[in-house]
Formats: sequence, structure tokens, C-alpha cells
Amino acid sequence: MMECMVAVIGPPAVGKTSLTMRLGETPGCSVFRLREHVPPVILAATAADPDRVDWVDDLTVALALRGYVERVATDGKTQAVLLDNFPGSGTQVRLLLGILRRRAPRCIVRAAELVLDERTRRARARVRRVCHTCEDDPAHDPRLPAVASNSDAWKCGRCGGTLHPRRGDAPRLLAARTARFRQEAPGLRQAFADAGINVLHVDASRDIADLAAELSMLIVTGSHPA
Ligand SMILES: [Zn+2]
Repeated sequence: MMECMVAVIGPPAVGKTSLTMRLGETPGCSVFRLREHVPPVILAATAADPDRVDWVDDLTVALALRGYVERVATDGKTQAVLLDNFPGSGTQVRLLLGILRRRAPRCIVRAAELVLDERTRRARARVRRVCHTCEDDPAHDPRLPAVASNSDAWKCGRCGGTLHPRRGDAPRLLAARTARFRQEAPGLRQAFADAGINVLHVDASRDIADLAAELSMLIVTGSHPA
């Protein structure tokens, strides 16, 4: 039974995806990434417009989320879901909580906001790379952090192909995505607060193993009777 959802939010390049990838390896744990549940034609539209990078309309979000929640609530193996970079607005928080109330009323929702100083965050955006071969993104805009080979920082450690920066990390797009997070964050935090959900602030400058350990405390599993 799905017992818990943890929203992992924060501005671009604080490490949300690395962290959810790491925690997603825990048995019974799944990771929700919105774009993996959005029709490719809609992704392609958001990719073509710099002002809309990563922005998906609320109806599409509602359909994607409802389908996902119905699936994991009944698959008999998912106990916890990590939401990578979701919700992105107060409206999306209310959407999420509304869907859970109907489809998984016993699911506990928690939220963690990763916090990092500006310099470190920009430095992380500059060095992170993706692999177009290992991650076959429908909009040709891969997101998952790639591991470089030991001998060459620009070669993929898995397939040997050339690594690339993320498209959305180009300075203008990174600035636009950061500005959107800053704009949406107050409404997002307020919507969680209105639902009685405390948003935990997590210092993202630490080693990923420490971060994962802290975040795993938020995940309710069958081994911790409520
Ligand atoms: Zn690769």
C-alpha cells in the first residue's frame, strides 16, 4: 500500500534529481517525474518556447498525476513515492492533495525544500552533464545526471558517448527557471501550510549520502508502524 509521498522541491541544480535517484533505489520506493508522464507532443511544445521550459498546463498535470497515483496506489508494491521537483506551484499542491484524498486517503504527504547558496548552485549547473544515448528523452532534452568515465569528464561512464550540458542549464534558461521557482515558491509553501504540511528545509551543500539519510527519515515505510 502506498503509505507516503515526499515532495522534493527547490530551485534548479540544487540536486533534487540526484537525491531522488539515490533514494529511489530503496525497495518499495518509486520516483515521480512529471515529464515522464506527459505526452511527448506537449513536452515538445514546452521545449520550443524558452519562457515555457518545463512548464506544463494544469489539466495535463492533473491527468498525468491521477493516472500515476491510481497505478501506484494499486500495484501492491509501492510504499513510498518521491516527487522529483513536484509540485511546482500552489495550484499543483492542491491538485495533488485532492487526488490523494480520493485515490489514496491514507497516504501521508511530506515536503522537503533543498536549500543551497547561489554560488554553489550555479557552479553545480555549470558542471552537470547528461547523456543523450543512455537517456532517450522524448523531447531530446535528457535530465538525469550522467556519471562521467574515469578518464574523461566529457565521456559517459556507461556508454562511452559524449556528455552534454542540460539544455535548461544554458544561462538564460537557468535564470528563467530559477526566477519561476522564486515566483511560485511562496504560494507553494503556503498551500502546504494550509494543508498542515510542514516544509522541511534541507541544507543541500552536504554530501549526497548525508542528504539521502536525512530525507529517508521522512519516508514512512511498513517497518515503522504509525
Ligand atoms: Zn551514456
